[in-house]
Amino acid sequence: MAQVRFTADVVVTCDTDNSVYAPGVVDAVDGRVAWVGSPDDAPEISDTVTVDNVGGLIMPGLVNAHCHTPMTLVRGSGDGLPLHRWLTEAMWPREGRMTPADAWWGMTLGSAEMLLAGVTTSCEMYLFEDAVVDAARASGARLAMTPGVVAALHPSGSDRSGEIAEFFSRHHDPAGRVTVGVAPHSAYDLGVDAVVNLADLARSLNTVLHLHLAETREESAELEASFGCSVTRILYDQGVFEGRVLAAHCVWVDTTDINLLAANGVAVAHCPISNMKLGSGIAPLAAMRDAGVTVAYGTDGPASNDSLDLWEEVKMGALLARAHSLDSTLITAVETLSMATRYSAAAVGLDDTGCLIPGNALDMIRIDLDQSTFVPVTDIDELLAHLAWSGSSRKVTDVWVAGEKVVADGEVLTVDTERAVAEVRERALRLAGA
Ligand SMILES: [Zn+2]
Repeated sequence: MAQVRFTADVVVTCDTDNSVYAPGVVDAVDGRVAWVGSPDDAPEISDTVTVDNVGGLIMPGLVNAHCHTPMTLVRGSGDGLPLHRWLTEAMWPREGRMTPADAWWGMTLGSAEMLLAGVTTSCEMYLFEDAVVDAARASGARLAMTPGVVAALHPSGSDRSGEIAEFFSRHHDPAGRVTVGVAPHSAYDLGVDAVVNLADLARSLNTVLHLHLAETREESAELEASFGCSVTRILYDQGVFEGRVLAAHCVWVDTTDINLLAANGVAVAHCPISNMKLGSGIAPLAAMRDAGVTVAYGTDGPASNDSLDLWEEVKMGALLARAHSLDSTLITAVETLSMATRYSAAAVGLDDTGCLIPGNALDMIRIDLDQSTFVPVTDIDELLAHLAWSGSSRKVTDVWVAGEKVVADGEVLTVDTERAVAEVRERALRLAGA
């Protein structure tokens, strides 16, 4: 058994009690957390156990709950267009030329970017699922892969079900680093029946259904007119919320919709920066949380953000909610940090990451506290405030996934980043038709 004792100036666990130890100890055995607490209470260890005095602050890796990472290949295109025109005029023509090898390099570059930012897990909705899994595995990142279903390629959705079930049987491994869900793009794109069928598939596989919901005000107008109610209500009435569901965006949800999401345990991936960039609106974060909805953070794809740095959501998501409600007491530092960790992990269907507690995977990041923005600290709440409001990917020095070190001193160990940059630069030109 490989045992390691990590000691740090601060351990932020992001557990349900928001426990913080300063100083703190994390014991790991075979890539899993065995014990967390204060050094004074730490169990005796034998001389054979490696002690790694990492100093600084350690906390769980962040979880990006909604992403289309291979879109690193189309980052920057269509800037300034609203969602529908952005998809049809800028994204889909380029993505239509994409090959599995392109997706592999796009995912590889994005994985490196996320790992460097301390994001150890992402939930991906994309095509080319084999390439995405291969790339994530090679980078060492944890992945919740939800193969996408879009009307342009899968008009009925049903032809895709067999492929996804087969892919699930090959890759779904909750004890390892890859899990598999099902991702119909949206009800407005695929139609309600296809979403219902894919929800049945997700339930039969006992896995997560991941879809876009109520992102813009206009997208579901036709559906809503023909059904006579909101798109959220339509999906509820059709039984789509009966399984484990992750809904991205939920910007245009009213009180009744929010109560339906809460009552059915639908988790929401809140993507404030993507929503701001595409002018989609401001999701009612505080109201969703008050109603008991599990709200996670997602970057959305790197073409609508345009970074994969979830620290930006940690800050902007909370501050936007405060500005929107004229209330500075909303979404504390601790709450916004737990949204990016514990809640995000739960939202994407992972039970053993997102907080540092015994039994969980050792998905952990180290943050350098010897920086001006972490000064001063007269009590621990101030330190947590620094972490939420002035902590950023730039402060992440080391990253472990399942106990494996994948970033050391700000360098990714698992990816040839220079090559990935060159590949994506070159391939993107071809996709652009340049
Ligand atoms: Zn999306």
